[in-house]
Amino acid sequence: MPRPWGPTTTAIHAGKRFNPTRAVTTPIFQTSVFQLLENREGAEFAASIEPPAFYTRWGNPNTSEVEAVLAELEGAERALVAASGMGAFALVFEAFLKAGDHLVAPAAIYLGTEQLIRRWEAERGLKVTWIQDALDLGEWAAAIRPETRMLWVETPSNPTLAITDLAGVAALGKRHGIRTVADNTFPSPIHTKPLALGIDLSVASATKYLAGHSDVVAGVIAGSEADVVACWQMTKVFGPTLDPMAAWLLHRGLKTLALRVRRASDNAQALAQWLLWQPAVARVDYPGLPGHRGHEVAARQMVEGFGAMIGFELRAGLLAGQRFCEALEVVTRGVSLGGVESLIQHPASMSHLKTAPEVKARLGISDGLLRFSVGIEDQPDLIADLERGFQAAAEAR
Ligand SMILES: *Cc1c(COP(=O)(O)O)cnc(C)c1O
Repeated sequence: MPRPWGPTTTAIHAGKRFNPTRAVTTPIFQTSVFQLLENREGAEFAASIEPPAFYTRWGNPNTSEVEAVLAELEGAERALVAASGMGAFALVFEAFLKAGDHLVAPAAIYLGTEQLIRRWEAERGLKVTWIQDALDLGEWAAAIRPETRMLWVETPSNPTLAITDLAGVAALGKRHGIRTVADNTFPSPIHTKPLALGIDLSVASATKYLAGHSDVVAGVIAGSEADVVACWQMTKVFGPTLDPMAAWLLHRGLKTLALRVRRASDNAQALAQWLLWQPAVARVDYPGLPGHRGHEVAARQMVEGFGAMIGFELRAGLLAGQRFCEALEVVTRGVSLGGVESLIQHPASMSHLKTAPEVKARLGISDGLLRFSVGIEDQPDLIADLERGFQAAAEAR
């Protein structure tokens, strides 16, 4: 069969070899263990890096199937799924970092990743340089030391939607022999394929766009055979295996990934442009807007749209932000993102209520900032809902 296929054909058909039945949809292999036909098989499978049927911490037809699909979507030799995005990131750290190593990462980064890095810094002797302006390749280059072992990129970033030049960072990594890792959660492989731009490992929270229905927690690592096997060895030791049922749900979600992501991004582009014209809005952060600082780089490395995450700031601040969220009926209040349903978060009164003002200032989190994960609902319904929010915010003043 000629390859590569498009993303939807890939998601539906690429993992078929792991379905030994005639069922069109692969059944859920809800089993922890598989029957060994001969004693010899026991020895062979225990030593194998891809045993077909052994013990589910090693693998399972449902995880193998979804890994085959994810590897093709990312253009990788191999992929590994884990029990969550953070579980996947922790495996990457365990596999490739040790005490005394130096890591470079953006200061504005997903909070869980920051906590993982800070824990390694405090307990494991990792040295860290935080990049203040992720768009500035000069700052990345200046951060590199002889003991640098990893450049960690997140683009667009969570929650500030900052853009990093993936090809630029990948070239730096190649020149200095440093492993580069991109958190590809926000764009998904529909908009960005980090490996094609020279990045070594593409990692993500599969909980978000990849699964896409806010019903499963999962993570993924995609890269070279050697790198992914090194992470898989860590799965065997630490055990954050993805459950067969969750792997099946993730695969089902992937079958509509391209349809969902394109629709959500189209909605987001339209809503971002509409938000720009709202008098109550002080600022809109969306990489698809020509006024966004990273727009030019984003337009170069993202295809078919700029993702479905929007940050926008209400002029009126804390109370207005709260009232805005409370008035919404279609858009749901919640901390996650990337599902079919639109979700909104007001960091100042929710996730960052107890955060010190100077930290909030450093992270770019103002009192009026809203983080909006645009879903696949019908655009007029979303606009009518936001209008309700603006009405309530105006009455709060
Ligand atoms: C949610 C998220 C993660 C963590 O993934 P989990 O599946 O929640 O463990 C990592 N990076 C980004 C950008 C995220 O949004």
